[in-house]
Amino acid sequence: MAKVINPADSIEKNLPAELVAFLQLAGKRAAARQEKLYLVGGVVRDLLLGKTNLDIDLAVEGNAIALAKEMADKQDNITVHKNFYTAKIRWHDLYIDFAATRRETYANPGALPTVSPSSLIEDLIRRDFTINAMAIGLTGQDYGLLYDPYNGQEDLINRGIRILHDKSFIDDSTRIWRGLRYEQRLGFQIEPHTLELLKRDIPMLDTVSADRIYYEIECILKEELPEKVFKRAHALGILKKLHPDLKADSRLDDRFPQAREVSFPHRPSPALYMALLTYDLNITEKEELNSYLRLPKLIAQTMRDSDSIKSRFKYIATTGIKRSEIYHLLYDYSLQAIMASIIVAETEEVRQNLRLYLDKLRSIKPLLTGKDLLKMGVTQGPHMREILNSLLDAKLDDRVKTREDEERIVKNKYSK
Ligand code: ATP
Repeated sequence: MAKVINPADSIEKNLPAELVAFLQLAGKRAAARQEKLYLVGGVVRDLLLGKTNLDIDLAVEGNAIALAKEMADKQDNITVHKNFYTAKIRWHDLYIDFAATRRETYANPGALPTVSPSSLIEDLIRRDFTINAMAIGLTGQDYGLLYDPYNGQEDLINRGIRILHDKSFIDDSTRIWRGLRYEQRLGFQIEPHTLELLKRDIPMLDTVSADRIYYEIECILKEELPEKVFKRAHALGILKKLHPDLKADSRLDDRFPQAREVSFPHRPSPALYMALLTYDLNITEKEELNSYLRLPKLIAQTMRDSDSIKSRFKYIATTGIKRSEIYHLLYDYSLQAIMASIIVAETEEVRQNLRLYLDKLRSIKPLLTGKDLLKMGVTQGPHMREILNSLLDAKLDDRVKTREDEERIVKNKYSK
């Protein structure tokens, strides 16, 4: 069981001193305007878990835009959304969100809400889960005080994910994906009643736009262990809302960690993860998923490339294949697709040749350039490309070492 943490202590302990000073100053300025300021959302949840979270969301009972303008050191550090009563400021390396406490009403399920100013408590009820529906006061006497109208702290202690009312997933079914993400990230459990409603409302995912679903998928891909979320989604019958044939089984336990290994020190790109998640779909199924989610071009192309590379595995593994042949089999494909293919390849020969391409062949270039050829008297035209290609092949296959070797090839070819 997690222990109860004092919010004021946790602010001091888990946020950098300069940021604490910024929050205190914002609190003072809000008080001077006769307004109240709160930390809200994920940062409150994480502070109560004793964790640092620099994704700062502030709620103002009052004019959030005016307060943000007072806190921004240069006017160009601020982005304002008047219709939503919000402003974002860039402060050092961070973005800090200021939002007026608001009420949200949904015209119909899955629609974007209509927003109007309200009290903090009304602002908290529009939120997804009790653990995200808490606030910490930042003004005057309120400083460090926890506002927890839905017992989020108790759910943090009991490690439970709970919605605030029974229509929550109907109002906004992206919360289904969000719930799985928090559950798997925090090692919590979606509590039984919430889970029952979540299962009941899976069909509501059809009411949300593809953009909003893809946004949630992107958030999952940024998690430390996205495979856990996809496996849970598969087990609950949610993954098949993306595509009926999409599966997330134990193969992901092998593939996703390898993606992290090959991408180290960076995080795997969304394209690499998506290529691995969808690897076992055929090309038609991939295109169906792509047109449903309207995936970014690079991701869609990486999925297609992975499929196409798979159909070339048998050639890539041919005994005695030349390095230039490996190069030409692969050079049209995105690097992410090659990485995905290395991870998934079933034979050592394929894996080795893909690696050889990735680590070495793709960066090999002839010493002579087009300019050198012009100097040697070669005229412009398609034969120029042909000569450069044969120089590249000779270099890849180790048939040339020096500039003179390459010049010899040019003379030979050109004389023909
Ligand atoms: P993270 O998800 O990375 O931990 P977070 O909890 O701060 O970050 P955000 O997506 O940044 O989540 O949203 C900020 C807050 O807004 C959430 O904590 C939650 O209270 C609320 N929120 C976000 N999306 C929804 C939603 N679909 N329905 C209700 N509330 C939401």
